[in-house]
Amino acid sequence: MIYEVVIGVEVHAQLRTKSKLFCGCGTVFGFTANSQTCPLCLGLPGTLPVINQAAVEMAVRAGLALNCTIAANNLFARKNYFYPDLPKGYQISQYEAPICEHGWIEIAGSEGKRRVRIRRAHLEEDAGKSVHVAGTNGSRVDLNRAGTPLLEIVTEPDLRSAEEVVAYLKSLRETLIYQDVCDGDMEKGNFRCEPNLSLRPLGQKEFGTKVEMKNINSFKFVKDAIEYEIKRQTKVLSDGGKILQETRLWNLDRGETAVMRSKEEAHDYRYFPDPDLVPLKISKEWIDQVRSSLAELPADRRNRLQQEFGLSEYSAGVLASDKKVLEYFEQCVTEDEKLGLSKMEVGKELANCITIDFQGLTRKMLSRPGFERSNTPLPLRHLDYSEYGEVWHGMIIPPKNLAELIAKKVKGEISGPIYKTVLEEMCETHRTAEEIIEAKGLKQVSDEGIIEKIIDEVLEKNLDQVAQFKEGKQQVLGFLVGQVMKASGGKANPGKVNELLKKRLG
Ligand SMILES: [Zn+2]
Repeated sequence: MIYEVVIGVEVHAQLRTKSKLFCGCGTVFGFTANSQTCPLCLGLPGTLPVINQAAVEMAVRAGLALNCTIAANNLFARKNYFYPDLPKGYQISQYEAPICEHGWIEIAGSEGKRRVRIRRAHLEEDAGKSVHVAGTNGSRVDLNRAGTPLLEIVTEPDLRSAEEVVAYLKSLRETLIYQDVCDGDMEKGNFRCEPNLSLRPLGQKEFGTKVEMKNINSFKFVKDAIEYEIKRQTKVLSDGGKILQETRLWNLDRGETAVMRSKEEAHDYRYFPDPDLVPLKISKEWIDQVRSSLAELPADRRNRLQQEFGLSEYSAGVLASDKKVLEYFEQCVTEDEKLGLSKMEVGKELANCITIDFQGLTRKMLSRPGFERSNTPLPLRHLDYSEYGEVWHGMIIPPKNLAELIAKKVKGEISGPIYKTVLEEMCETHRTAEEIIEAKGLKQVSDEGIIEKIIDEVLEKNLDQVAQFKEGKQQVLGFLVGQVMKASGGKANPGKVNELLKKRLG
């Protein structure tokens, strides 16, 4: 039997408001436990929630960027369950009337670009955190996170593989980051993924029983967990067994999913409209106002990069997929413009440096023995988060320094091999190109006497090629230039080498 994999995803994205969803407490991560709380988010009697307008605006902004319709009438509901990190005994969420519905997002699937439908996105408050202290009997609770605003974004069951899920998550995360509504920092838990997965015999219309996986905080773990779950369910079904509707947790150390609880149904939560909150009405004028302030959308961004900087579709796609990387690229271009170069002159070189050379350097550093993932400085932050994740630690080459190096290359002051040597050295030592070139004696040789001497030696060793050139084989010139450059240790001025060689060969 061949099975088709059916996956839907829920993402909890923390909205980057200054204060919580229904009170004025702060939302900064990492403060002393319980210092960011008030009677309201502690669930004390006599308090009343007031909706945070900034959170509503961010939800609308996200919804518009995800091509959703925005509900004019919003209701908040109580979702009742008992847990130590939920002091009120219920979570305020949206049930029947979510703020955003019927959207879609484009992803790069295995067979090209395609749309994934967004069923809904709704506002809700987060719970606190239980902290289990090693070496003690008890657990403690930290309620700093209780009440921070979340947007829960739910897809239709449109995804068919682990790769597609990762492509969806990347696309969604970047969209939210670009619209300034979520930090997307998976390690801090402000972008949490919960895929649900079922199998059905190929060609069957009805869905199989689905299993949900809870709170996964890296693209790699999402991929691993889904691949594991596909294998597990295939085996259960092939052996004639039944899949149980349940929630499972990804166990990182064992590389497998394990049952957390049997899945509850919506009616288990006894949803009902929160009597403390009036229905929230959103006017069309306000939605239009938010729409007009949306940040550039991904497709527009890619087109602009191709037209303004002369980039290929591929480079534009890589740069546009990460806000931080794109900002870095644009800062470097600005620095190069100050040096008198145009966007078109430096765009391609800079894009290649950032999308290709930096990745190569990262791989090289990762492959070194004794490499410490957490404290090795690397040139760029998460150029490809799924692959490098936490290892991209801030951009250690300041834009001004990289711009200077690129300017030297574009102006022909340094050759390709020297550029690579200097770039690597810059990543490791944080010195400027000028300092490294000086210290390592990599200064370009433009002295005609020295270059001519090297040319003499090279021509003597390559008499056959010289003869071929004289017979009219022009392409031999490139080979000879290469040999001279090599013999000079990459230091000869390539322009001069070309000129002098041509002169010598008549
Ligand atoms: Zn509070």
